[in-house]
Amino acid sequence: MADSRNSQLFERAQRSIPGGVNSPVRAFRAVGGTPRFIARAEGPYLWDADGKRYIDYIGSWGPMILGHGHPAVLEAVQKAARDGFSFGAPTEREIELAEEILQLVPGVEQVRLVSSGTEAAMSALRLARGATGRSRIVKFEGCYHGHADALLVKAGSGLATFGHPTSAGVPPEVVQHTLVLTYNDLAGLEAAFDAHGRDIACVMIEPIAGNMNFVRTAVPYMRRLRELCTQHGALLVFDEVMTGFRVALGGAQSVYAKAIPGFKPDLSVFGKVIGGGMPLAAFAGPRAIMEQLAPLGPVYQAGTLSGNPVATACGLATLREIRKPGFFEALSQSTRRLTDGLLSAAREAGVPMVGDCEGGMFGFFFPRTAGESLPQNYGQVLATDKDRFNTFFHAMLDAGVYLAPALYEAGFVSAAHSAADLEATLAAARSALAA
Ligand SMILES: *Cc1c(COP(=O)(O)O)cnc(C)c1O
Repeated sequence: MADSRNSQLFERAQRSIPGGVNSPVRAFRAVGGTPRFIARAEGPYLWDADGKRYIDYIGSWGPMILGHGHPAVLEAVQKAARDGFSFGAPTEREIELAEEILQLVPGVEQVRLVSSGTEAAMSALRLARGATGRSRIVKFEGCYHGHADALLVKAGSGLATFGHPTSAGVPPEVVQHTLVLTYNDLAGLEAAFDAHGRDIACVMIEPIAGNMNFVRTAVPYMRRLRELCTQHGALLVFDEVMTGFRVALGGAQSVYAKAIPGFKPDLSVFGKVIGGGMPLAAFAGPRAIMEQLAPLGPVYQAGTLSGNPVATACGLATLREIRKPGFFEALSQSTRRLTDGLLSAAREAGVPMVGDCEGGMFGFFFPRTAGESLPQNYGQVLATDKDRFNTFFHAMLDAGVYLAPALYEAGFVSAAHSAADLEATLAAARSALAA
């Protein structure tokens, strides 16, 4: 391993880049070992710098829902690149992408495009505060909404990996308006609204959290959350950067709307899949709120590369593939097959495991004792067996299966994963669990 090209590159990277990586969870600090430097990708596979092939269940942390190098997406990107990289002026494709999003997510009337999920969540927060004239915000322990200061409190995966509940460099006065609640804890929610209801600008939530592995909001909790927000004039902001166009074509909000008639959030934040692997994200909501944004309204928000022509081509081509009839049914079936397969492999090996999935997103945990149910909040995620996860992670990696390098992350299946890829993954899991 020491003389592997991955190790050489990691050594070299650490001289010019802090920690050798441009985003912390890539560094394998949680699981130990050397991060794999990826040379190229195709379909469901990645190849590292040593030429080893992996079945990819990270998919760039969500965007690659079609797998890597989908022909229609490649063609759209190549054509767009020839026409120009960036103009700093409006383009027709931005309208097309906005219209596509409005069609796929009912209840959204206007959308603004930005370049990262962090930017989208930060802007949605400013808009919620501007539109309500209130300062206080509510978030949940274990939910990540990007690294804007006010939201970087008890924010799950990346921070959890490094053992800091909140980042250094965020002054207390900047987060004094941020109220952090326990996910799925109804009493805590009621108490927060009783005490602060009149001051709450918004509640931001990952409806199906993917930054504390995979934890869903219970339906009765979501129903009550919607009622409380409406009653107190607070905006409900769904951070669907991970779940949007991933757990269902209409995102997690369409999943909850099936269980709660008429349900919709006030604002939605998108990213990851809508860029298809390019830097693109968005925030969206009803016209009356969205028109509070500059140039129409008093809430300022801008971006040199917002609605970038190459990124919008990539996102648009991706959305046009995933909206084809049967796409989500097939993707959900693959993800279900993988999740059920992992659970039955664990059962056969006598290893306690619980797991869940929705659409193309899944998660699994190693509880410390048999018979424990799925974690409902961040504390319960932290109580699962990290050492066992790490051992399993490395056994799978050695066998050519690339899972997220921390137990705090959800996993992603793409449309490019074939039945044979899933079976190969389960075979690797069976031997890893037996060992
Ligand atoms: C990834 C993610 C973000 C941040 O998006 P970036 O593009 O990495 O800035 C925000 N919210 C959620 C739920 C995410 O999963």
